Amino acid sequence: MKIALIAHDKKKDAMIALAIKYQDTLAKHELYATGTTGTLVMGETGLKIKRMKSGPLGGDQQIGSMVAEGKLDLIVFLRDPLTSQPHEPDVSALLRLCDVQSIPLATNVKSAEIMLDAVQNGLKL
Ligand code: PGA
Repeated sequence: MKIALIAHDKKKDAMIALAIKYQDTLAKHELYATGTTGTLVMGETGLKIKRMKSGPLGGDQQIGSMVAEGKLDLIVFLRDPLTSQPHEPDVSALLRLCDVQSIPLATNVKSAEIMLDAVQNGLKL
């Protein structure tokens, strides 16, 4: 599967913890991430991740274009719902495209765990 990881700044620690918890599972898949999230997760886990630009610089849109082209199977996007983001339009566009394409999208840790448990158990999403 092709899995993308994105985390807003205040959610990066949670993303790192999630990546560590599911490291063995994630290692079996093709991973993508926005720039800073990818750098941090790779540094903490050693997972191989293809990094896009940083989210505010277009990374969310790059992930969105992959969704539009049917090139992603699952997205974990740990959003910070309490801080306004300069690239909010890009964030909304990505969420919308996931709904257009019916791509599983987890926007908080519990949802991500349910989806990654499913991946771990070989469930086809
Ligand atoms: P980042 O982007 O991983 O480069 O911080 C995430 C985002 O804010 O969309």
